[in-house]
Amino acid sequence: MTSWKKWKHEHRALYGRGGGLLGHQLPRLDDPTLIVCPKCAKRASVVPVNEETVRANCFACGFSTEAPILPRGYAWGAETPTDGFFGCELWLRTNCEGHSLWAFNQRHLTFLEDFVAARLRERRRDPYWRNASLGSRLPQWIKSSDNRESLLKAIEKLKKMAE
Ligand SMILES: [Zn+2]
Repeated sequence: MTSWKKWKHEHRALYGRGGGLLGHQLPRLDDPTLIVCPKCAKRASVVPVNEETVRANCFACGFSTEAPILPRGYAWGAETPTDGFFGCELWLRTNCEGHSLWAFNQRHLTFLEDFVAARLRERRRDPYWRNASLGSRLPQWIKSSDNRESLLKAIEKLKKMAE
């Protein structure tokens, strides 16, 4: 089990200094942030309502709540990553090589997959990849080529969970 301090250190780069919002962290209507419903523990989603508000929806139990979009830091109170708006656990989580691998949404998974598959250079012209240093600041265990196969398997598993 990775210590919280170590985990936070490893993942800070992915979320930007101070926990700022990055592009693939923001939920979109066509690519919501997937969360564990705080009421029934089934899969729920966070979608934007407008430029100022996001909404968490659970189709399983009807849970629904809204929160403002604020450029704030995250209240990382637990050992598990949260959505950043409601403090809900992320749905897309799995273990990989003794680490916690997790993602907000499908864009985030694509980002990780492309990075692990070492296609970063070819994608650099894509606007999504403009912040090339983002990839270079991923945790070392994700960058290690030793973990490539198991990472791709874990990402594949998360992609199925996101369907
Ligand atoms: Zn629910």
